[in-house]
Amino acid sequence: MNLLLHMCCAPCSVYPISVIREEKIDFKGIFFNPNIHPIEEFKLRKDNVNILSEKLNFDVDYFEDFRQDEWENFKGSEEQRCNFCYAMRIDKVASYAAQKGFDAFTTTLLVSPYQKHDLIRALGDTAAKKYGVNFYYKDFRHGFRQGQQQAKDLGLYRQKFCGCIASYQEAANRVKHKNKA
Ligand code: SF4
Repeated sequence: MNLLLHMCCAPCSVYPISVIREEKIDFKGIFFNPNIHPIEEFKLRKDNVNILSEKLNFDVDYFEDFRQDEWENFKGSEEQRCNFCYAMRIDKVASYAAQKGFDAFTTTLLVSPYQKHDLIRALGDTAAKKYGVNFYYKDFRHGFRQGQQQAKDLGLYRQKFCGCIASYQEAANRVKHKNKA
């Protein structure tokens, strides 16, 4: 199988890559995460994907899309915002997989216990049908801690928030409350 792996960030990619390699699947990474901001954070996560690809010796296609306005101006609930955020990325990855002749696609979003796993799975199934390419679904969550530890050992940057401005502010508030307590 020739798999296109959507990489949301470097640390979350470590465990899924170990599984994919154990299964002897050929893969290429894709970095398409216009949700991440500010721009310094976007560059940091992209650079760390590049560092990981060099350390573990695999290729990645990078997209420079940075759309801070779309998340800043999003009107709707958290559920709706995350749906928009996942759907945009998964749709792009599935369409790119079909366009480039991959057998399947998947996403490292499936490793995090902090993400809306069932929603990501459903969006993956929808995009697979839309573009006629398989969605390689795996529940990678049991390897999350192991992957994060390996990422630390590899010296990768590990962010403290999901990516968008709302998650950035939530994380900043958590720190503020902790410091006050
Ligand atoms: S919390 Fe994460 S998944 Fe939800 S909108 Fe923000 S960056 Fe996207």
